[in-house]
Amino acid sequence: MVASRLSGIPPTVFGEMSALAMRTGAINLGQGFPDVDGPSEVLDAVERALRSGSANQYPPARGIPALRSAIAAHQERHYGLALDPDTEVVVTTGATEAIAAALLGLVEPGDEVVVLEPFYDSYPAVLQMAGGVRRPVTLHAPDFRLDVDALRAAVTDRTRFVLLNTPHNPTGAVLTRGELTAVADLAIEHDLVVISDEVYEHLTYGEATHVPIATLPGMRERTLTISSIGKSFSFTGWKIGWASGPAHLVDAVNSAKQWLTFVSGGPLQPAAAYALDECDAWPRALAADLRERRDLLVDGLNRVGLSTRSPEGTYFAISDVSGLGWRDGLELCRALPERAGVVAIPLQVFYDSTAGDQLIRWAFCKRPEVLGEALERLAGADLRCGQRQ
Ligand code: PMP
Ligand code: GLN
Repeated sequence: MVASRLSGIPPTVFGEMSALAMRTGAINLGQGFPDVDGPSEVLDAVERALRSGSANQYPPARGIPALRSAIAAHQERHYGLALDPDTEVVVTTGATEAIAAALLGLVEPGDEVVVLEPFYDSYPAVLQMAGGVRRPVTLHAPDFRLDVDALRAAVTDRTRFVLLNTPHNPTGAVLTRGELTAVADLAIEHDLVVISDEVYEHLTYGEATHVPIATLPGMRERTLTISSIGKSFSFTGWKIGWASGPAHLVDAVNSAKQWLTFVSGGPLQPAAAYALDECDAWPRALAADLRERRDLLVDGLNRVGLSTRSPEGTYFAISDVSGLGWRDGLELCRALPERAGVVAIPLQVFYDSTAGDQLIRWAFCKRPEVLGEALERLAGADLRCGQRQ
């Protein structure tokens, strides 16, 4: 039994696929979490906070001042975005809560929200809870570029928001300044608010650089930017996230957030502030390292007949499984643990359309030896549709 605001929303695919990996002992390249912790000096900061006698009770509603200041300083240092830490920043339980609180706090029933498809699975779920109507704009394989005409066509007189995600999960695409300018032009023309999920902001490779849409002319006052500590510092279990932007948007997030968790992560907040203030080199080194792991995985997948694009951001790579005769990526993902002892994520669950039916996603945020073992297993298995080992 479930209330209608949740009806039809499937269980999260990440739970299903991680449970499948646990049950079968398969290597889990599905759910995106690193298998090595973030900086040990940040763990030391958690320990200090735990023992300090002041961090184990409820932190302030919007987050401890040191963390809000660190978030504001991070946005200024990296992107030239000046924020008032008291009114323009709120700390949340991961980016997940920031997204949920933003949609619950801002979207009126019936409001249309333009979303990039494939979409991170919490977006449609929370949009439905908020009574919003999603208008997907598909990023098409193989390059997953933004189709500006399709974007324009998705906007109606009921559209009030664009829910953006760059670097983009699951495709690994990083929106270019040109693509973001098209979004910004449309937002300004139609008076839309942009909610921009930037949790992979530091994980870009080669020429690609992350441009926060809030930095484009006319966008600061209409953009709510969301990020978290999880991906940048390899602490996905901490669930320390934040939203920043003009006070009226941050207030709306806080209005909903105070009734969801109120506050969380007491001893983690000072450590997250330390990570943001003192450890800029760490995400840079992580990105350089991930680039090598990306190449290892993408080359290996292409060698076993899985046509795989090298992504310019995030820690996900997408394979097209049609070359092995599969029409349905979900079917292959369900067969993979038995055939090869590896788990991947079927992309179709992130689409309204059928554009992702033959695509699957791999996470390469694992140690090289784990990726190597997964590739060996895949190379030794018969992956063709209909064939059994
Ligand atoms: N947005 C995207 C695009 C993500 O991939 C994730 C993943 N974990 C989140 C939000 C949630 O972040 P957090 O773990 O900080 O809640
Ligand atoms: N963001 C991660 C992913 O896309 C994990 C998401 C989750 O577990 N909800 O794999």
